[in-house]
Amino acid sequence: MVEALAVGVCGTDVEIASGLYGWAPPGSERLILGHESVGKVIDPGPSGFSVGDHVVGIVRRPDPVPCPNCAVGEWDMCSNGRYTERGIKQVDGFMADRWRIEPDYAVKVDQSLGLLGVLLEPTTVVAKAWDHIASIGRRSFWDPRTILVIGAGPIGLLAALIGTQYGGDVHVLDRVSGGPKPALVEALGATYHTGAVSELGLSPDIIVECTGVAPLIRAAAEAAAPGGIVCLTGVGPPVMPQATVTSLASDAVLKNLVLFGSVNANRRHYYRAAQVLAKADRSWLEQLVTRRVGPGSFEHALEREAGDIKVVIEFAQ
Ligand code: BGC
Repeated sequence: MVEALAVGVCGTDVEIASGLYGWAPPGSERLILGHESVGKVIDPGPSGFSVGDHVVGIVRRPDPVPCPNCAVGEWDMCSNGRYTERGIKQVDGFMADRWRIEPDYAVKVDQSLGLLGVLLEPTTVVAKAWDHIASIGRRSFWDPRTILVIGAGPIGLLAALIGTQYGGDVHVLDRVSGGPKPALVEALGATYHTGAVSELGLSPDIIVECTGVAPLIRAAAEAAAPGGIVCLTGVGPPVMPQATVTSLASDAVLKNLVLFGSVNANRRHYYRAAQVLAKADRSWLEQLVTRRVGPGSFEHALEREAGDIKVVIEFAQ
């Protein structure tokens, strides 16, 4: 049993609250939101955790069959779609004063992170994306240097953080020129850009696309270096004009590109993400949390405000 400290809010929660995504538990008309958690163990039972440990809940649970991927703990790659996700798909989430969790799906986090523990789950999503980028890169001789991240929301900024930890020449493109994003990117030693991808003069070996916007995906494939990898982490409006698909194919084929999608994370990625956060500058991480609201006004957390990066519902100090 865990007492909630905080829950992060992301675009997925906003989509669920608008009725565009998400599934209530079978037999229920409601779903408790919340998949970016951090809490304090108040009753460990026979789990091996101690009272006071800070934990984050793993989001996905394997499908009941299970498929071969879920059977080996790679539920992020579930092959029959029958997985469940806390706060998203058929299982209640962590937006509650207290929550229970199966000990195998709780990950201990450094207590000194405090509320910043909510950044672990989004970091796992990016750690998984990077894990797959590295696997794909091994298909041929590969010496990636230039990395472009499109979209400077929490996922894009965490992707840039990992890119700089790898020692890459990281560039981040977003549409805003004000607010905290440019300074956050520069603080990583990366370069912040606005404007069109085609005008950056870059030929990136790796592109992490975090917006899901069709013309940007198209532009990413056009800009990518031969043999490049374009990782899609964002879901945008479901429109992809035919011309976009066709010209995408010619870039992908003629430049040996790999364009792939990445979602969710398995336990291995939680450990990797914890390493990333431990290595990151604490004050940089603090600046990602731009707004905190109490559970009594949770609806404000679901509204977007200018300058928002990560909005957090704070349950306890
Ligand atoms: C969550 C993932 C989840 C995905 C799709 C994201 O917001 O971070 O854990 O798999 O949504 O439901």
